[in-house]
Order: sequence, then C-alpha cells, then structure tokens
Amino acid sequence: MKASMPDPTKPARAPKSPERPARGDARARAAKAAACGDARDRGDGGDGGDGEIASIRRVRDALLAWYDAHRRDLPWRRTRDPYAIWISEAMLQQTRVETVIPYWERFLARYPDVESLAGAAIDDVYAVWTGLGYYSRARNLKAAAESIVAEHGGALPNDVDALQQLPGVGRYTAGAVASIAFDREAPIVDGNVVRVFARLEDIREDIAEKAIVERLWALAACLVRGPRPGDLNQALMELGATLCTPKRPDCGACPVRAHCRATAVGDPESLPRRTKRTAVRPMRAVAVAIDRGGRLLAVRRPETGLMAGLWELPGGVLADGEEAKDRAPQILHEAVGLEVRELECIGRIEHVFTHRRLALEVFRAKALPGARARITGFTAHRWLEPDALLALAHAGSTRKALTLLGLCDEPSARAADAAARRVR
Ligand code: SF4
Repeated sequence: MKASMPDPTKPARAPKSPERPARGDARARAAKAAACGDARDRGDGGDGGDGEIASIRRVRDALLAWYDAHRRDLPWRRTRDPYAIWISEAMLQQTRVETVIPYWERFLARYPDVESLAGAAIDDVYAVWTGLGYYSRARNLKAAAESIVAEHGGALPNDVDALQQLPGVGRYTAGAVASIAFDREAPIVDGNVVRVFARLEDIREDIAEKAIVERLWALAACLVRGPRPGDLNQALMELGATLCTPKRPDCGACPVRAHCRATAVGDPESLPRRTKRTAVRPMRAVAVAIDRGGRLLAVRRPETGLMAGLWELPGGVLADGEEAKDRAPQILHEAVGLEVRELECIGRIEHVFTHRRLALEVFRAKALPGARARITGFTAHRWLEPDALLALAHAGSTRKALTLLGLCDEPSARAADAAARRVR
C-alpha cells in the first residue's frame, strides 16, 4: 500500500476548522502541533509507532539522503554567515540560481556585512543590483540592514518573528534564514515547495485558496521538525528545482516517489492548479529618447508606485483612444517642460509587470538648442549617455526601449532569466 504523507489538516489531532495561526514562530508552532502531533514530547523524535509520523520520518530521511548525495554546490551553501544567506534568499526570489550567482558574489564583495550595506548610498546599492530586476528587493535589503544595525546591534535576529519585522522579510524569507542560518525548525513554502507538496499530496484544489495555503504551510511545518531543518528545507526546494519541475518531473529519479500520490494517479505535471488568475490590466504609454548633444534625457520615477525610484526615458500614459504621435509632444511638455524637433516613432515594445501589460510606443527626438528640462511628477533628471542610464536602476521596459532604438544590445539578466524559464 502506498505510504503517502498524512494530510496534516485532516487527522484526529488537527482541528476541523483550524484557527488562523498567529505570525512567525507562534504560527509555525501551531501548525506543527496540528500537523505532527506531539511526537517529540513522547520522546520518540517523531516515530513513536504512529504510522503517520513514521511516514513523515521516511519522507524526511529520503529527502535528506538525496540532498546529501545530489545537492548543487552553490556559493551560499558554503557559508554559515546569516547575512550572506539572507542576501541569497532575497536575490533568489523569482530568479534562477544561475542568474543570481554572479550578482550575489558582486554584492557580497561590495557589501560584505550588515554595516557596510546599512551605510551605503541607495543609488550605489541599485548600481550593484542593476539588471536583476525588482529593485524593491534592493531597497528593502538596505532598509532592513539599517534596522538591524539600529535595533539588533548589527546581527541578524535568529527567530522568525523578529526576522519578519524587517522591511521586505516575509514568511518565506524569515523561515529560510531562520532554518538555514540558525537551525531553527522554521517552515518555508515557495513555488518549488508548493509544486512538490501539491504532487506528493495530490492536491487538486486551487493552491491560491487560503485553506490550501495554510495546509501547505502546515505540511512544511510538519516536515521541518527534526534534525537539520535548514537542509530539509533546502532539500525540498532543490527537489522542486531539479527533479519535480513544472513540465517534465523526473519521477524515476525522485527520492520520495514511493510517497507521491500524484505519480500514482499518473498526472503529476497537471499539478499544482491555480484556477483564479489575477487579471493583468493593459496599459499604453509613450517614451521618448530626447537627444541633446549625444546624451539622452533620463528621469527618475517617484519613490512609491509602479517602478518606484527607477530611471527611465521621459513620457507618460495614454488614455483610451489617444494616438501616441498626437499626444507625445504634449506629454513631453507636461512631464519635462521641453519642446522637441524631429519627433519620430521607432516602434512599440511590450512589457509585463506583475499585474500590468504595458504597450510602450517608443519615439526619438532632438532637444532644441539650449533646452533645459523642468520635470513634473518625477524626482530627478539627468542628461546621460545610454550606458550611463543603464548603469542606474532602470525598468526592464527602458532597456527594451533602448534596444529598439539601437542603443543597447544586451538583454538584462532579468530578461535572460525569464526567457530561460520559459524554455525550461
Ligand atoms: S515522484 Fe515525481 S511528481 Fe512526485 S514528488 Fe517526485 S518528482 Fe515530483
């Protein structure tokens, strides 16, 4: 008979309608109690003759043995420095390992500890981050470093609750840092772990449903309990990244195949399921490369909202029915107070943000002699050569626009990463 993992929300020990757990460690403890029973208090370390607990232990042992034999040699796995591990976890969010490695090495060389990051200028941090995308991560890292210096004496806190108080540190990152750097039995659930659990447990419901999310966290809390919690968490993520992949899971090589319900059913690649997609709203805008003596006008967006704090070519949003060519001169006048000549449409690029799909009409133009910009709605402006603009924190759409203009020929690391993920 197949020994699947027990459903931690359904055994007699689990409440029928589990209370929404509290944050951080308290939440993890509540989930563990519901999921795993109190095996440890019985002194059996999780295998006291209880079939469910024994099954969990077998999954745990199989994952750890496989991880020991097959784990990738990644630079952040060669350190126990909590700061370095934290930086890696921030960078790895929605980004492939291969893309992150050089960024992580450069970042650590430039900012080797919390103090150096806390004392850095944000533009310098952005410069090291340039190309990795999602600049809010860099902004949050610096803000969190300042908080760690001010409130924790420069040492990363070692428990989930305190970690979650830091800017940009959510449930996943707190669990990853607490378990990997501090050996805390803190659960993690990321995209890889969701996929592995959905298949192991044959979860056919929408994984975005609140009850399913809590069920996944309860499973993670159950599994992490025991020796080597950091390695166990990394083994789960490694399994999702290397064998239990979205399209073609390599079930033949999987260490927990004997426990996998979806494989027994025969369609693991159909899981996980997400039925409710967040609507992606279309948006039209113009961007103009205004040339003044070989330099382009670059403007910096406000510190809040879409693409906060990033540099871009000046322009603005088009309303429904507005023609880009007709509106571009007026948009420029309103945004940067400039009249231009030789305005020419070069083409259109498409760029997808989390909830927006941008169609950007790209123009080039020349500034009138002696023109001086007067910005409205932006926080700064500079006349820059294209390379200098790309050295600043910029949106992916800006790089695409410069590529269309023939002023840049390399995709960002972020774009290359997205393309590689699409192929896989
Ligand atoms: S057996 Fe296949 S589907 Fe199941 S966890 Fe392993 S790789 Fe994933």
